[in-house]
Amino acid sequence: MASNPNSSDEIPHILVLGTGGTIAGLASHPEALADYRSGEVGIQTLLDRVKEGIPPSVKLKAQQIANIDSSDMSEELLTQIGNAVKESLVNPLVKGVVITHGTDTIEETGLFLSSVCGKLAQNLGKRVVLTGAMLPANAPMPDGPQNLLDAIRWSSTALENCPGGVFAVFAGKVCLARDLAKRHTTALNAPLMDSQTSPIGLINPSWLSGVKAAQAALGEDLPIPQGSWPWVEIATSHAGCKKQAIEVLIKSGLHGLVLAGTGLGGVHQSWVGPLQEAQKAGIALVRASRAGAGAVVDVKDGLICELAGSLTAPKARIALQLALNAANEGSDKSKSLTWQDFFARIAVLPEYG
Ligand code: ASP
Repeated sequence: MASNPNSSDEIPHILVLGTGGTIAGLASHPEALADYRSGEVGIQTLLDRVKEGIPPSVKLKAQQIANIDSSDMSEELLTQIGNAVKESLVNPLVKGVVITHGTDTIEETGLFLSSVCGKLAQNLGKRVVLTGAMLPANAPMPDGPQNLLDAIRWSSTALENCPGGVFAVFAGKVCLARDLAKRHTTALNAPLMDSQTSPIGLINPSWLSGVKAAQAALGEDLPIPQGSWPWVEIATSHAGCKKQAIEVLIKSGLHGLVLAGTGLGGVHQSWVGPLQEAQKAGIALVRASRAGAGAVVDVKDGLICELAGSLTAPKARIALQLALNAANEGSDKSKSLTWQDFFARIAVLPEYG
């Protein structure tokens, strides 16, 4: 529990959850920034380093959920993060939630949280804000401290007309967390798609209306898997694909497969036969694209499967896992819904930006 003057359990506060990443990383030497370990510094220390920038009216509570390199993110940890965020949102003392996270898989956690508690956050008018850094905490000019301050500001500022929801903040810009997609190995704004962001200090009205439309179209939150998650893998189509690769996957016992197709989303012809067999065997198939931006279309390559819209393959994988889990769980209200219905709830939202 935090011990600085900005912290409190008993009064309204912003909860800051630390999960690790480069923001909490340390380089072996300030001149060798690529040689570093993620998740070395605790969340309270990161907050102590920025305390001068936090308005006295904003009270914080820190909680270390994990301190890992996000490339090692596990489904168990996602469940833990999701449960912690949901619990905090319904706590009247928690006014907003900030999560520090590694950038490598932040898009997956962003899509996950948007899908399991985005509606709840919106209904309660609270913001959940993900952030991280591209430079380790002991870099000569680290980007983490400003990102953390911006995330605290975005989670705690009552902006007229701006709905609650799950957001992300990097390099002075804010976006919906479901729009995160790491597109660069080193750039300071690597996880953001520029067209879907707004400068945090000067909110762009067309971005805000896009956010509102996307939020208005959000369906009910999906349940968080509490036990083992459905097993879903990603298969990337490429020159020289061999059908044996798909045959091996089918025999492995997985429940679903996301196809990172080429261009509009098509897969190599040598995969079509085995993929049709996979569908007959009950494996859920989703079509995404490896292109990096834009939505997939229903290409005529012989396969009929669900479309991931503009979700990247890693995000489509999380969406498919949540959809399969929701369909298996079959709460009374949703008994007649299929995994395809749940998947569409995540993948089919208005495009903007
Ligand atoms: N490998 C780091 C992580 O995802 C990268 C980062 O945080 O930027 O934890």
